[in-house]
Amino acid sequence: MTMTKRQGLTAAAAIGAILALGAGSAQAQFPNKPVTMVVPFAAGGPTDVVARIVGEHMSKTLGQPVIIENVAGAGGTTGITRVAKSTPDGYTIAMGHMGTHGAAPGLYPNIAYNPQTDFAPIGLAAGTPIVIVTRKDLPVKNLQEFIAWAQKNEKTINNANAGSGSVSHITCVLLHEMMKIDPNQIPYRGTGPALTDLVSGKVDYMCDQIVSVSSQVKGDAIKALAIATPARSPSLPDVPTTKEAGLPAFEVSAWNAVFAPKGTPADVVAKLSDALTKAVTDPATKKKLEDLGGVVPDAKGASPEALAALVKSENDRWIPLLKAKVKQ
Ligand code: ASP
Repeated sequence: MTMTKRQGLTAAAAIGAILALGAGSAQAQFPNKPVTMVVPFAAGGPTDVVARIVGEHMSKTLGQPVIIENVAGAGGTTGITRVAKSTPDGYTIAMGHMGTHGAAPGLYPNIAYNPQTDFAPIGLAAGTPIVIVTRKDLPVKNLQEFIAWAQKNEKTINNANAGSGSVSHITCVLLHEMMKIDPNQIPYRGTGPALTDLVSGKVDYMCDQIVSVSSQVKGDAIKALAIATPARSPSLPDVPTTKEAGLPAFEVSAWNAVFAPKGTPADVVAKLSDALTKAVTDPATKKKLEDLGGVVPDAKGASPEALAALVKSENDRWIPLLKAKVKQ
């Protein structure tokens, strides 16, 4: 069969229209396969805990599983670098935090991503107050006794953290500065495994995000000396604030938030953002996070715009401070 020139043009236009339709519907169909959410720390820590709770609800809205992949190392920067360099199609996203997107550039001069320009922010998942926790049998009853004990035993005590630039690292760096001590710091691939060693008494203390320590505190497996927020947490009402415990200058809170790589199409960002907002405003999901001590944002607080502003203000706060304070 032969085609006239006119028939040929019409056929080409029809094929073009079908291809365009196909491309449009492929985007409209996002997601049509599972979404991977990279947690840049080991399982069992706060970032992992928040990702699993939020990811479970996001998968209901998206109609596809949200699979958690733990990619630990270098204070969380290894996993976040992987997401920054991944194809920006919405199928690889990250659960970042105040360390990876707020502070890490102050500690890694050659970091491979810029928290403000290499990501499409999706939204805040939870604020996570910092708690000073110790092994159960540490011979102190309160923060003042802890400070005296730490100053006396500075050379032999062990502080656990999730690696350089992690929340547990930078917040305890501030604490140590206030206590005027420079103790041994032991890095883990996340505060999940660090917490296991704190429970078994292999390390002495850490500064960590409330969501993974509150159950262990409630179960008396570890001790909480103070929470570094202006008010007590409803999740741990017996734990005094640092102000009440006599160290008002130590006030610091962390957060976990979802990021996609820069270049992710706007409609895909909107779908991910909608799924995250639905997760954090869902009463059951919100309760799960709040029971653990998480401070859950409202829809406005969970928006991409609010997260972009948070990352900028955290970079402005932490990067100069850490460059000046921490041995690189
Ligand atoms: N809380 C950890 C940190 O110190 C990381 C984690 O395991 O979520 O940054």
